[in-house]
Formats: sequence, C-alpha cells, structure tokens
Amino acid sequence: MSDLTRMSAARLAAAIASGEASATEVTEAHLARIAEVDDRVHAFLHVDAEGARAAALEIDERRSAGESLGPLAGVPVGVKDIVATRGVPTTAGSKILEGWRPPYDATIVERMRAAGLVILGKTNLDEFAMGSSTEYSAYGPTYNPWDLTRIPGGSGGGSAAALAAYEAPLTVGTDTGGSIRQPGAVTGTVGAKPTYGGTSRYGLVAFSSSLDTPGPCARTVEDAALLHAVLAGHDPRDSTSIPQPVPDVVGAARQGATGDLTGVRLGLVREFGAEGAEPGVAAAFRDGLDALTKLGAEVVEISCPHFQYALPAYYLIAPSECSSNLARFDGVRYGLRVGDDGAKALEEVMSLTREAGFGPEVKRRVIIGTYALSSGYYDAYYGQAQKVRTLITRDFTAAFEQVDVLVSPTTPFVAFPLGSRTADPYQMYLADLFTIPVNLYGGPAISVPCGLSEGLPVGFQVMAPTLADDRMYRVAAALESAVGTLTPRELS
Ligand code: GLN
Repeated sequence: MSDLTRMSAARLAAAIASGEASATEVTEAHLARIAEVDDRVHAFLHVDAEGARAAALEIDERRSAGESLGPLAGVPVGVKDIVATRGVPTTAGSKILEGWRPPYDATIVERMRAAGLVILGKTNLDEFAMGSSTEYSAYGPTYNPWDLTRIPGGSGGGSAAALAAYEAPLTVGTDTGGSIRQPGAVTGTVGAKPTYGGTSRYGLVAFSSSLDTPGPCARTVEDAALLHAVLAGHDPRDSTSIPQPVPDVVGAARQGATGDLTGVRLGLVREFGAEGAEPGVAAAFRDGLDALTKLGAEVVEISCPHFQYALPAYYLIAPSECSSNLARFDGVRYGLRVGDDGAKALEEVMSLTREAGFGPEVKRRVIIGTYALSSGYYDAYYGQAQKVRTLITRDFTAAFEQVDVLVSPTTPFVAFPLGSRTADPYQMYLADLFTIPVNLYGGPAISVPCGLSEGLPVGFQVMAPTLADDRMYRVAAALESAVGTLTPRELS
C-alpha cells in the first residue's frame, strides 16, 4: 500500500484507469500516510476522510460501470484552506473564519470534482495567505519534511509540505506574490503560478484581487501541468477571468521532457544577480542553467531596471487591496463575533471581533493599506506603486521581445529555521524578492527543483509571457529531465 503514496499523479491515474489499483485503495493509502506523519508535519488543517472515501468510491463505481474517466480521475488532492469547499471548513488560516463551512464550492474545486479528483482535505497557510513561512497561521506552523526545524515556505507551506511528505500527490495553492513557487522551492517540489486570470478566483477568500492566482503544486512538472489543465479556463463568475482557450500545458511538459531546447532563449535578469542569492543557491541555479544550455538553450543577459522596485510596490499594492477586501470580516456576516452582549454598539463589536480574530501580520497590512489609500497619501504611496507596476510590466514586455522566458533562482535562500525571520517583517518579505515581479506583470511562472544547497532544496524559476503558460512547462520539464526530482529523507 505505501508504494501508492510514492507514485506520481500521472502514474496513479494510469494505475486506477487500468484497474491495477482502485481509487479507494489510493485514497486509503494517503489517509494512512496522513495519519502516520501529519502530527509532525502539520500540513493539513482539516482532513475530510469521509468526503474523500465517498468521492473515491464513486470513481470506482463509475469505472466498473465502464465509464471513461478524465486523466486524473481517482487521484487525491489537498486544497489550500483559502479556497471555498462546500460543507468543509475553510478558515484561510485565521481565527476570524474558524468554524465557517462555505455553502458553495470555488470554481476550481467544482472543476476538480468534475474531473474525478478526490479531495483529501484543507492545507495549512499563513493567515489570509500573508507570509512566507506558514508561521502566521493562527493554527500553528507547518514543518518542512526535509528538516522539521525549518519552515516549508509560505503562504502555501501546507500544500508544499503535503507533497514532500507523500501525504498527497497533488495540491492546490494560490500565488499573490510567490506563495505557490516559494514553498515549492524550499520543499523540493514543483509549483506553478498560471497567468493571472487563467485560473478562476471565484470562491477564493480574497487577499489582493489584482494579483491572486490559484495554481497547481506537484512533485513532477507533468503532474503540475495535468492539474493546471483541470483548474484553468474561462469562468464567467470571475470578472478578470480570461475568455481564451488554455494553452496545451500537458503537451508542452511532455515535449520538454524529451530534453530538447534547441533555439530556446533564456533571459538572465541582470538586476537579480546584483541583489544576490546566497552562494549555495546561486551555485545550484548556475548548475541548472548549465544543464539547460547542454539541452540546446541559449542564455541572454537581460536588463529589467525596475525589478528592484517590485518589493516596495508590492508591499503597498497588496496591503491596500487587502485592507479593502478584509473589511468584510466585521463580526456580522462571517465567522467570529466578539462582545455581542446586547449592550455594546455595532462599531465596538466590530472592533473587538477584528482585534481578537486577526493576527499581527494581517493587522500590520490592514493598517499599512488603509494609510496608503487615505486621501492625503494616496498619490504618494498607492498611486506611485501603480506607476511602478506599469514600469515593471514594460520591463517584461521588452524582455520578451528578446527572449522566450526569463529565469532566476526562485528564492534568495533555502528553507530557514522556524522563528528566525518573524521578528523583522522585512526579513520575511525578502523571501519573495525574485517571485514578486512577475505577479505585478501577470505572467505565468513556475518553480522546479535544480539541486541542493547544504542538503536543502533549491528552486529554479521560469517566467513566461502572459498566456504562454505552455512555454514555462516546456523549459521546466526539460530541466527536470536533466537534474531529476528530489526526495527528502524518510520521516518515520
Ligand atoms: N509572501 C508574500 C506575502 O506575504 C506572498 C503571499 C502570497 O503569494 N499569497 O504577501
């Protein structure tokens, strides 16, 4: 049974389709693995064993009835707990939503159910997806399966750790400034942020609406592409969803896996080099780059002069949007309500609820965002940040006239020890130095393992033009074919 937890999603789907294993056996194996290791990893906030068993049984029955099923039918998946799941707790990692069971499914959840994926449960995250370590979860951190004293990245640390600990073959994340890719990098797994608008935001608990992008997390590039194909596509319920066909990401991943990148131009961002990743990360990235050139790719140095302003621009835009989005948590409409004794005024109940329900990082961002949007400061902060965003977008557009993709390390440093960056928010924000520019532009980006530094995984980031998600999968799969996947030490 335990072998089933080591297989790729593609392999599991084939085993289920051929009758080699039932969806029920596959689901039971993963539930058993969660029971075995999740007290140490804490990747899950909620395990829906009953729902998963029912979904698996339905797949097995449909298969025995001779129905032809989708390419991921019967494969288990973990879902970041910021995505609404009907009847299943959805907390966004916050006390303010404790006990909330959404009355509806997010579009991406609807699509996964329709494709026959089996939802195992909800994965841990920094509160409202704000953070880079999962330490800001109101329910306690997740631990990195590579070293349980270290962070698994964030905000989607639960989704990444579940993969690295073999608790799920696939998970879903959301990426606003790096929360799919950075956890992927520090856990030795694959995380892809689709083009903004390529995957529906309907049913996501909103953080920063002009940036939030759900996407796939997996242990192989092909698996990520398979899940991407299920999640993506136009959704009339999301006004920023793109009404265009999804590129053939699965075909591109398979093409890349043949290991031929002849004629592909990789842009190396000069400004990222100057900022500097730590030496071990830079070395592993260089090895990845060498591997890609051996496959025929050409490396071109590219200047993106405004990337150095991406972090400050993001930390005005994201908090501004969050201060507006989080206004809905008022103690009236959702979840927690504090101090409603019949005597207190509405404002007082609101304020007591928000004081008790939000953690320190969320409060910091609401305060920064409210300040940046206030009438006297709007032009100096929010307005200025939007101008910088336009300049960064122009850097990308100019770069993609010269190269096919941009490449960089995903993160400046490997998984850091728990507690080492919580005292100074700026140190935490630095984790997303390389991931944030492409969020401001809106293009797709993927992190794929490229090697180890001091025994810990390093991620290689590939960024592509908007709507060219297939291109990043091709390059990432080629890199994977050259350097292989990474396997952490056994936990038990
Ligand atoms: N670490 C970044 C932040 O704290 C990114 C978060 C995300 O992508 N959700 O905002």
